[in-house]
Amino acid sequence: MQHRIVVLGAGYTGAIAAGRLAKRLRRQDVAITLVNAEPDFVERVRMHQLAVGQDLKPRPLREMFAGTGVEVRLAEVAAVDADRRTVAVTGAGGTTELGYDTLVYALGSGWNTQGVPGTAEHAYEIASRPGALRLRERLARLGAGQPVAVVGGGLTGLEAATEIAEARPDLDVALAVRGGLGDWLSPKGRAHLRKVVDRLGITVYEQADVTGVEADRVAIADGRVAPAAVTVWTTGFAVHPIAAATTLEVTGTGQIVVDATMRSVSHPDVYAVGDAAMATGPGGKPLRMSCASGTPAAWQAADAIAARLTGGKLPETPIRYFNQCISLGRRDGLIQFVTADDRAKESALTGRTAAVYKELVCKGAAWGVANPTLGMPTRHRPVTRPQAADARRR
Ligand SMILES: Cc1cc2nc3c(=O)[nH]c(=O)nc-3n(C[C@H](O)[C@H](O)[C@H](O)COP(=O)(O)OP(=O)(O)OC[C@H]3O[C@@H](n4cnc5c(N)ncnc54)[C@H](O)[C@@H]3O)c2cc1C
Repeated sequence: MQHRIVVLGAGYTGAIAAGRLAKRLRRQDVAITLVNAEPDFVERVRMHQLAVGQDLKPRPLREMFAGTGVEVRLAEVAAVDADRRTVAVTGAGGTTELGYDTLVYALGSGWNTQGVPGTAEHAYEIASRPGALRLRERLARLGAGQPVAVVGGGLTGLEAATEIAEARPDLDVALAVRGGLGDWLSPKGRAHLRKVVDRLGITVYEQADVTGVEADRVAIADGRVAPAAVTVWTTGFAVHPIAAATTLEVTGTGQIVVDATMRSVSHPDVYAVGDAAMATGPGGKPLRMSCASGTPAAWQAADAIAARLTGGKLPETPIRYFNQCISLGRRDGLIQFVTADDRAKESALTGRTAAVYKELVCKGAAWGVANPTLGMPTRHRPVTRPQAADARRR
């Protein structure tokens, strides 16, 4: 009997985990099913590019996984029953149940309105492809001089504001940030960011706690108002509610709590990776929602599953950060080097070199999905039936 591994979500982390499992384990011993709602792999890190009218390379999942032994199932995950080990999926043939022996939960996240009034009704998001396409269509209809407000001064907000301002110099782009502009960056990084924002003519509202979004403006707690024919909301990500509706141990925000091998602390046959997981990183800090930590977490999960099925050695490489790669339009960028626990170091790359570096990182991330053995530290023996059966009992 084959050991059934079901991977939910074919974003960066789910796709990497599925591909790596297929490389690690023998086809006759495992059946790997990768479930995803959309037929294509979505390069989420390029959603701001899609929103301003750039076209992204189509990456059909069935083509990417052809010949790998991974079965791609196009369906929407409706629910997980972690006690019965089943997943309810809705696809072309209606709703069916998929049984699993090992589950990898990688459904990622969406935008986070944080419950700010008017956001759900009036704001646009770039956390998903449909959201970015909706914004793209709206931006294309904006006439010269119309105001666009980007809310959120994190990496996504910086990338969105600069991309829009560069692609549409005729628009009046503003950026509302809760603290100071790029206040977590090194002095060099902050200075460069300020220079680029000034060059692109972006108005920055600092110390701006946005309390409401209306059809034509954004309201700030201290009484300031940013005019906005379009508001782009980028204040972090929120996970899908599916995990929180299970008996899995989750955080207050619905992320699945996992150990260092990305295994659920409550259900040993469930692993969670990427934005959907709460894993502890260097310095005891939670890993932030990013490809930067999600990719090694996916390697870790796949290697741990393979090791447990084959009696191999568990992976012990701690996940750490190296840099924060920020595009500032297509021709400029900022690579902020960071400590293992993600604090800015003195050094940073800026300008054209940083833009090229960031582009290579994005290309590399997509390449890593198609070539999941990248970074593979050790080889595990192929799974054997008795060991697989034993692993199921553990
Ligand atoms: C504009 C933007 C720029 C970013 N830039 C960077 C960056 O430079 N560096 C960085 O490290 N991170 C960046 N991020 C964050 C990064 O994209 C995410 O952290 C990463 O995509 C998380 O990977 P994931 O596999 O957990 O989720 P995702 O990549 O979101 O994948 C989840 C998958 O699950 C599918 N799915 C969701 N719900 C269901 C369901 N119910 N049924 C079936 N399928 C479902 C989705 O279709 C998707 O394919 C950026 C994000 C955005 C939006």
